[in-house]
Amino acid sequence: MAKHETPLLDQLESGPWPSFVSDLKWEAEVRAKNEKGIDYQIPVDVCDDLLGLLELSYKHGRTHWKHGGIVGVFGYGGGIIGRYCDQPDAFPGVAAFHTVRVAQPSGKYYTTKFLTQLMDLWDLRGSGLTNMHGSTGDIILLGTTTPQLEEFFYELTHEMGQDLGGSGSNLRTPADCLGTSRCEFACYDTNDLCYNLTMEYQDELHRPAFPYKFKFKFDGCPNGCVASIARSDISFIGTWKDAIQVDAAEVQAYVDGQTPSNGGAHSGRDWGPFDIVKEVVDLCPSECMKYEGGKLSIDDRECVRCMHCINTMPKALHIGKETGCSMLVGAKAPIVDGAQMGSLLVPFVEVNKEDDYQAIKDVIELIWDYWMEEGKNRERLGELMLRQGFKTLIEKCELDPVPQNVQHPRTNPYIFWKEEEVEGGWDRDINEYRKHHNR
Ligand code: SF4
Ligand code: SF4
Repeated sequence: MAKHETPLLDQLESGPWPSFVSDLKWEAEVRAKNEKGIDYQIPVDVCDDLLGLLELSYKHGRTHWKHGGIVGVFGYGGGIIGRYCDQPDAFPGVAAFHTVRVAQPSGKYYTTKFLTQLMDLWDLRGSGLTNMHGSTGDIILLGTTTPQLEEFFYELTHEMGQDLGGSGSNLRTPADCLGTSRCEFACYDTNDLCYNLTMEYQDELHRPAFPYKFKFKFDGCPNGCVASIARSDISFIGTWKDAIQVDAAEVQAYVDGQTPSNGGAHSGRDWGPFDIVKEVVDLCPSECMKYEGGKLSIDDRECVRCMHCINTMPKALHIGKETGCSMLVGAKAPIVDGAQMGSLLVPFVEVNKEDDYQAIKDVIELIWDYWMEEGKNRERLGELMLRQGFKTLIEKCELDPVPQNVQHPRTNPYIFWKEEEVEGGWDRDINEYRKHHNR
């Protein structure tokens, strides 16, 4: 029997979709019955009181969580988000309801044993409620009390060999797509790069020293399954330098209808007979494809790696052979001026395991030096770029500007002309300008 009446929340169960309210009620019931005989270490009515508090928030039209609170585990500056409610007498089960962020493995590969162990631990020392996964990528465990934090952390790290993720003004838990481990489009091993950088930057992850949060995300190709271009301060997107590989016989098989486009039935769409010109060539955003005389040709210099043709005819077209990744910087939604996508900083870098990804780390560390020196409190990299200009970032990263850094030709060229670099200096230019305009 529910402890609190929840008429407003009950409405959320009425639609056709799965409801988190039903999940909360189910968990509350499981805890009340405790058929497994678990020695719960936090109040057994935590889920009941959570439902009651949420109902009150809906009724009042405002949250009843107090803002933040500093709690954590010894030696770590992040990974736990303190949460207290402002109605502890009415809802003692959620007087303290801290969130724990657990680092997810690269590519989110779990064993059943790991998940069972984690859930057993969370049933014992927390509310049993989870968010798989949070938007940063971590496993989010919702709701425990302060005395349980060290206990949970000890068992997580010592018995399961798993770590907390990031929170606060630090490097957030890096996240990646499954990359070469399963995907034919992957241009580099996202799992390995993500793991390597996570291990390299443990200090930055656990000891907040940045002006604000900082995120890495890794997409193995421009399909962007983790949407790194929109969600990370540095986005690593797989790409290639050479030509798209074309298998002419397979192109013919698509044209003849022997191979269904877009993965056929798996795409969930019935496209009817395949029309290569309409569905591929005419949709190429850079208009660099031709289908003439039964032959498909691509002007690869103009290809912008949108992936459309490859996604449509994956058996016939394949990513190039000289693969690596692009580094884009400054994404965040919403940023001071609204949502912002990443800007291309390094068009191509080899993702080279043998040299321990040193070229990538060099760029990261120069960016951090600059941001930590110049960034204001709670200013993301993208905001600093807007404030001081992309040109400054390129200079600070000791990179030469390249055409790919220019977003719109003739509107925002990141020009580094300095007076001493121009023969005759500015005076000569101004005089020429005046002469030209008869002034
Ligand atoms: Fe595959 Fe590309 Fe998606 Fe990664 S981003 S899973 S490589 S399609
Ligand atoms: Fe055109 Fe995109 Fe294919 Fe490149 S990847 S050739 S831009 S459709």
